[in-house]
Amino acid sequence: MYQAKAYGAASESSALAGMKIPRREVGPKDVQIEILFCGVCHSDLHQARNEWKNTMPTVYPCVPGHEIVGRVTKVGGEVTKFQAGDLAAVGCLVDADLSCPACQKDMEQFCPNGSFTYNSPDPHTGARTYGGYSDSIVVTEHFVLRVPSNLDLAGTAPLLCAGITTYSPMHHWNVGPGMKVGVVGLGGLGHMGVKFAHALGAHTVVLTTSPSKKEDALRLGADEVIISKDANEMQKHAFSFDFILDAVSAPHDINALVQLLKIDGTMTLVGAPEEPMPLAGIGLLFGRKSIAGSLIGGIKETQEMLDFCGKHNITSDVEVIPMQKINEAYARLAKSDVKYRFSIDMASLQNE
Ligand code: NAP
Ligand code: ZN
Repeated sequence: MYQAKAYGAASESSALAGMKIPRREVGPKDVQIEILFCGVCHSDLHQARNEWKNTMPTVYPCVPGHEIVGRVTKVGGEVTKFQAGDLAAVGCLVDADLSCPACQKDMEQFCPNGSFTYNSPDPHTGARTYGGYSDSIVVTEHFVLRVPSNLDLAGTAPLLCAGITTYSPMHHWNVGPGMKVGVVGLGGLGHMGVKFAHALGAHTVVLTTSPSKKEDALRLGADEVIISKDANEMQKHAFSFDFILDAVSAPHDINALVQLLKIDGTMTLVGAPEEPMPLAGIGLLFGRKSIAGSLIGGIKETQEMLDFCGKHNITSDVEVIPMQKINEAYARLAKSDVKYRFSIDMASLQNE
């Protein structure tokens, strides 16, 4: 074990602060990465503050961060895909049994024996996993992704969660030309959803509670923008959407969104507010509509998404911050005030 520099929360009410965390020595199948950028996901905020206490209680200290891009510093003897000096990325997954039915179908995100990048049991150390708000990480090769060489690194980091979480359901529900697709909530996930829906050729509509984001939504690739609090505007789009991706981080009225789906339309939730949201079943009956959920994506699909982004020159729109500004960033994220993802420049940890 060695000590890495990190930022984490000591309890659900404490601000994030500098700390040292244990990282394992590089084993035969391991890749050690010097972290250059780490995106700030709303899931980091949910977990640092223990907002998922009933489903995934946070164990402290908690070092968040699962949108990691960096440079390989060392590899184990059995590693074949990476060597020191390569760019590499790590998303939300760092372990899985690779043999269960989910893993066999390249859906490691549903492995019952898997570990997330932070706030999970760490089978290698016997302790907990610690995430990317750190200067280095050691990860089994299977969970390390290749980074297309043409992409800006600060804007690439958020692809590892916000990117795959919006790409995977669009892929699964066959988003493409001729479809009217809604993206609800123009935050980190939502703005990537807009870029993907547009790149896949769908008629892309943003549903936002923030009228001030309208211009940005159009610039990011939306064909239309609906202010979701305006009942008249919503009514005009009733029964017209093939697919809606709901990326909202707080409880909200999902019935108003269901009424926008056309016959056999699907609304997929990727936002993860812990509180239940009331659903009027009758809204689904009229039109044989479906509500679904989706969780990040498997490793193979994450690599496909990164390659798609390389080909189409897609990155996240980021505000780059030093690690020391993380508490301000969290306060802004809680107010939906980010354009459209914070990306931490880990060089800022050098002076800690
Ligand atoms: P974010 O950047 O904070 O964006 C959330 C957006 O939701 C806001 O920008 C805002 O958009 C909208 N919103 C916030 N509060 C709202 C409210 N009370 N009513 C209606 N709209 C509201 O968050 P994010 O990082 O994109 O994450 C979004 C959610 O997805 C989080 O819950 C996160 O934990 C979850 N998540 C899930 C997965 C998965 O695998 N399923 C992966 C990553 C994250 P407007 O200003 O446009 O209204
Ligand atoms: Zn995330």
